[in-house]
Amino acid sequence: MPRRLRVVTLGCSKNTVDTEHLLAQLPPDAFCIVDGDEPVDVLLVNTCGFIGDAKEESIAAILEAVEAKKRGEAGTVAVFGCLSQRYRAELPAEIPEVDAWFGARDLGEVLRWLGVCPAPFVTRRIAEAKGYAYLKISEGCDRRCSYCAIPFIRGTHRSVPMEELVAEAELLASRGVRELILIAQDTTWYGLDRYGRRALAELLERLSAVEGIEWLRIHYSYPADFPEDVLTMMARNPKVCKYLDIPLQHISDGVLDRMHRHIDGARTRALIARLREVVPGVVLRTTMIVGHPGETPEAFEELLDFVREARFERLGAFMYSEEEGTWGAAHLPDEVPAELKQERLDRLMELQREISLSCNRSRIGTEVQVLVDEVLDGAAVCRSEFESPEVDGEILVRELSPDVRVGDMIRVRIVDAEDYDLIGRQVLD
Ligand code: SF4
Repeated sequence: MPRRLRVVTLGCSKNTVDTEHLLAQLPPDAFCIVDGDEPVDVLLVNTCGFIGDAKEESIAAILEAVEAKKRGEAGTVAVFGCLSQRYRAELPAEIPEVDAWFGARDLGEVLRWLGVCPAPFVTRRIAEAKGYAYLKISEGCDRRCSYCAIPFIRGTHRSVPMEELVAEAELLASRGVRELILIAQDTTWYGLDRYGRRALAELLERLSAVEGIEWLRIHYSYPADFPEDVLTMMARNPKVCKYLDIPLQHISDGVLDRMHRHIDGARTRALIARLREVVPGVVLRTTMIVGHPGETPEAFEELLDFVREARFERLGAFMYSEEEGTWGAAHLPDEVPAELKQERLDRLMELQREISLSCNRSRIGTEVQVLVDEVLDGAAVCRSEFESPEVDGEILVRELSPDVRVGDMIRVRIVDAEDYDLIGRQVLD
């Protein structure tokens, strides 16, 4: 009888891709993959170990898996991913009921433990047919931002060979995927380790030739030494979304220096101006950290002024949390009180809410091509090239023709705007 198996996946889209790679290699005559919560023979937990909240969520999921085993609803339990990579020495003793522990770079080991001989990870098991999929172009990171534990968890930067990525893209396109979201810890570093040069622009060119793929979206780009050829590729290649996710984290020279971001405020401003000049109409998503050591009241006001001036269409923010094992935890006292961090986060996100609403209002009356993510009761949840799934607002389309399906691309007129979402109406030819 095939063994019944389920994976609980936590954390970021990179973990989602890892799980999809792993499941795609399980022979159907030996494994039956279960997505619901019925009893299984094997229960796997793919964990996240990035920051405090994520770690707690992973621990809770592991303990729930162990409880399921005690209730006889799971035969064996194994844990992999970032949390078990980061706390590999401590966790087995703390939760001895877990049958096997693997790291964040051990998909092959997990497969061997399941009795499967691993093959190159170019196939994917995508649980739910959607018009978009993530494409993980590399693993690890060679940057050393002082607050970040990821390089110690995911290791040094390793680019996936371009041929394997093109093969994976062709497979995904053959399954109806129209949009690929390029992810990594640092997408702009792609190629340096494997080809001795930055090759993201070349990869975009190759992927844009894959039949069926309409949109290529870049996430997790890094601001320092941003490759100019990626800008021109965004400007001239219609399949590369006029959208860029570029976490900046801060703008104050003093804070950026303590973060070891290898860029200062002036060069950050110059890059944003260059992006908007070379790619007119580009939508920028960024992330900021508030309450980082060295963030004086003046430095925070400078951040607010910068956000007011740059008008990012999309912005997320975190409160600084000290992560053990990082340079920051060892050398920078976590001096900003928690309530002040929260107050700064609230002020920043309130400012961003106003900017987002004003940007959304400026799109009323425009027409745009959208990808249909969900259809429900004659309406659809959609996104244009300016909205990324799961992190940005959406376009709710009413008055929809009945033949529209998930994964379709349709034309929409924007008729109303909210803080983060838009309201649209289908434009029929
Ligand atoms: S670029 Fe910096 S923040 Fe991002 S994963 Fe690498 S070290 Fe961490």
